[in-house]
Amino acid sequence: MAENDLKAALLADRTMLRVSQEPNVETAYEKFLAETLISSKGLSLSQKTTFAGTLPLVSNEQVKDLSLPYALANFQTLDQNDNGSLELSELSSRRTSLAGRKLESESLPGLSTAMEGSFLASLVDRHSYLRSATKTGSWWNLNLVDPPGITRQDLRAAIKDTHRLRTIFASPPLLPEVKGDADLRDLPGGVPEIFESAGVEVKTLDQPVDKALAAHIEQAPIIAIAAALYNPSTREIFVERGQSARKAKLHEVGHALDDALVPGSKFFSESREFNREVDLDLQNLNNLSPKPDWSKALPTVHFFIQSGLQAGRLNEGARKELFAELYQSGDVNLAAGLRNYFPRTGLLVDETLRKNGIGR
Ligand SMILES: [Zn+2]
Repeated sequence: MAENDLKAALLADRTMLRVSQEPNVETAYEKFLAETLISSKGLSLSQKTTFAGTLPLVSNEQVKDLSLPYALANFQTLDQNDNGSLELSELSSRRTSLAGRKLESESLPGLSTAMEGSFLASLVDRHSYLRSATKTGSWWNLNLVDPPGITRQDLRAAIKDTHRLRTIFASPPLLPEVKGDADLRDLPGGVPEIFESAGVEVKTLDQPVDKALAAHIEQAPIIAIAAALYNPSTREIFVERGQSARKAKLHEVGHALDDALVPGSKFFSESREFNREVDLDLQNLNNLSPKPDWSKALPTVHFFIQSGLQAGRLNEGARKELFAELYQSGDVNLAAGLRNYFPRTGLLVDETLRKNGIGR
């Protein structure tokens, strides 16, 4: 992805992240419209296209949820025959009317054609379920006729259901009371801009990270052993203040970039291209004779990688660590050593960073 396109895609990602943190789906829809307006300000035409096209791709679940308040807010427009219910044909014809329009154009005030198209697709998909949202099972048997369309009442019932689920699964910030660092200029070039676009926050703590997050250990046991942490579902990086934090901080920045390089909840280290290079490098390492003593060859490498190398294979977690360790530049010897043993992966990481204007 070109540098500017990545930023636009990340803005879409950030918009959906903020929307997803709103437990009330109607408030979430308002937030969606407001955030879209703010984020798309100042974008070039090609960035606008990327932004509008990425929004619906970030999360199927959010599209599903937001389609309900969308339908309620635009009920009159959608209800072409004005009979108080949205028939399948009305939703389909509205959808057809959007075909051929540019993704970034506004089909309704504040709403892009791309997003409205996805809302309509979701409503069409779930039409049969939604039109009976307010009815009980016995209603079907008693009446022996199918309800023709979705009423406002159906939408309100479905919204209530959704609200319940969002309350359970919402992922609010782990430490909402701690503000993200305002000044990110100590991070490598391009990173502050990417973090701004993606909504990543660096939170510097005055106590050990595991202590500060003690209340969350049960949800995320990995916190207990981490000197620093990146939490993908809330895009928070936590580090303890102090000089020795430099390597740890850059390592976590690496995790956040791995996440940011692919909009949505995927990581670059999960991509086929990354894993192909890792496998090729690993094949060569496994053929080495004699085998290096990894505790001496890469003494400071993350233990997931070290034990993986010992075993001759790297699992998903170790591959994420490999990306972060290849990224970090706080431990210069380690960075050079890893590029020596993983030349193909190192090259791919460096190339990908360069293409996206990210320094290390
Ligand atoms: Zn890590």
